[in-house]
Amino acid sequence: MPNDIIILGIFVADTSYRADRQPRMGETILGNKFTLGPGGKGSNQAVAAAKSGGNVGIITKLGKDAFADMALGIWSDAGVTSLATQHDESYTGAAYIFVEESTGNNAIIVAPGIAATISSDDVQKHTADIATAKVFVTQLEQPIDAAMTGLQLARAAGVKTILNPAPVAEISDKMLSLCDYVTPNETEAEGLTGITVSTPQDAERAAKAILSRGAGAAIITLGENGALYHDGIDTLHVPAITAGPVIETTGAGDAFNGGFATALSQGMPALSAVKFANAAAAISVTRPGTAPAMPDRAEIDALVK
Ligand code: ADP
Repeated sequence: MPNDIIILGIFVADTSYRADRQPRMGETILGNKFTLGPGGKGSNQAVAAAKSGGNVGIITKLGKDAFADMALGIWSDAGVTSLATQHDESYTGAAYIFVEESTGNNAIIVAPGIAATISSDDVQKHTADIATAKVFVTQLEQPIDAAMTGLQLARAAGVKTILNPAPVAEISDKMLSLCDYVTPNETEAEGLTGITVSTPQDAERAAKAILSRGAGAAIITLGENGALYHDGIDTLHVPAITAGPVIETTGAGDAFNGGFATALSQGMPALSAVKFANAAAAISVTRPGTAPAMPDRAEIDALVK
């Protein structure tokens, strides 16, 4: 059965170390805590979409190692169809996350491993999967050529396209014009437009600039200020919802994108889909972790109504 939502992206295992301070070069210190959890924007968004009720497949590359088993296990638990290929010439992606407990600051190294080799050819092998979907989603953690090919294949088949332009990268107008929806956060919106975004008014200006570069609609996520949607005709600012005490906002954008993809794939109008995504993200920030924090459909429906 074809998947309604196809996500092209990467999985990384997040290895998180907490210590009072960062070690100096050449020094070894004892840390206070270690955690291992699933990460990677593509994988997080796939889990978010599946848990919110979407029928999702993920295109990516994994190694043949324990972290690959972790990815496959998480997708299987969430109901994500793996369209991943496994390779033994490199390892599954991993991220080193150092948290300095005295300040809460972090320093991160993402090593995408085999996912750094995802190519246009790799994506082309999934032409049929993409063409039979309703919604295609990608981000910029894998090579940009692969994202471009995915967007082109989706557009050619009349599949709705969502680009979450993260992390910040140089994006051509040609790429933006293949996107029905572009979903940057404040920093990424500034990267795309040069406009500093800290209020909904700034976001509306930035959204208009993104549309002038070719995108169909822009949805700028504004953290605790919610999100701003603009499609050239309609503009909507949805304030953030307080669903409980905020525990961890990492992955909020992924909850938003996954929820938005599910809503669109089920025929919801874009403005309702933004409200659905905003509710999904609001619940995710009240829980620790990223993929494990993604809410299920009943929880989102209860908040949206
Ligand atoms: P990213 O994680 O990509 O930086 P944002 O921080 O903009 O993305 O958050 C994405 C979405 O998560 C927001 O648009 C909003 O819907 C929700 N969100 C983020 N922070 C909060 C918060 N403190 N309370 C409620 N919802 C939040």
